[in-house]
Amino acid sequence: MIFVIVFPILAGWLGGWLINYLADTLPLTHRLTRPTCKQCGREYSAGVYLSFRPCRNCGHRRGLRPWFVQAAMMAIGLYTWFNPHRMGYALGMVLITYYAVVVVIDMEHRLILHPTSIAGALLGLGLGTWLHGLLPTLEGGLGGLVIMLVLYYFGMLFAKLRAKRMQESGQESDDEEALGAGDVILAGVLGLILGWPVIWFGLLLGILLGGIAGILLILYLMAAKKYGKEALMVFMPYGPFFIASAFFIMFVPNWIIAVIPK
Ligand SMILES: [Zn+2]
Repeated sequence: MIFVIVFPILAGWLGGWLINYLADTLPLTHRLTRPTCKQCGREYSAGVYLSFRPCRNCGHRRGLRPWFVQAAMMAIGLYTWFNPHRMGYALGMVLITYYAVVVVIDMEHRLILHPTSIAGALLGLGLGTWLHGLLPTLEGGLGGLVIMLVLYYFGMLFAKLRAKRMQESGQESDDEEALGAGDVILAGVLGLILGWPVIWFGLLLGILLGGIAGILLILYLMAAKKYGKEALMVFMPYGPFFIASAFFIMFVPNWIIAVIPK
């Protein structure tokens, strides 16, 4: 009986370790290197690293992220264990681990890395083909890319017009970009995973979630009277919202799939 709970908690913990490790190394070296201290650059010993203790050399603390990731993954590990989905438990946890790596790196570095995109595309191609067949998977990937590419160029056009107007009024222009190229690639990867036509709904839900978060952020900044030019330049990473949307569609109840128009 106890095994029923121990197994998913253990699976979540292992997934959390992997996410923390990839988020610590990939943005710096783009490779699976030994993790090093952010402050002094010394390599961690496995024991110190895996137990999230401070650096032995300079005493630099690891912060709350590792613990947050472990706790979140244990909760998700339990949740998916008791709410089974079509792809099976192990594959689901692999997919969630990939999602979490993208989210953590995007939030900490505002980057969607090519190695994670390539890994995601391979995972998405395999998983999508198994779930929906090859053609809807490829259509989903292409659809995601094209939809986001159109939005991306709209965003660029808007940014250019805005920069021009700011120059005319004598203000210095900034390089604000609502959507990054990484978001476009991520949309393609999620398209492979969700397939056509569900990717439509996935991107729409992601943009909606991002928009709601943006409004809440602006309201908060207004309430805190921090609203100024700086506040307007707050960068919105859309990646985490697309991932949240894809997670919701795949792992939160089957009834949501039933309401998506086919
Ligand atoms: Zn150190």
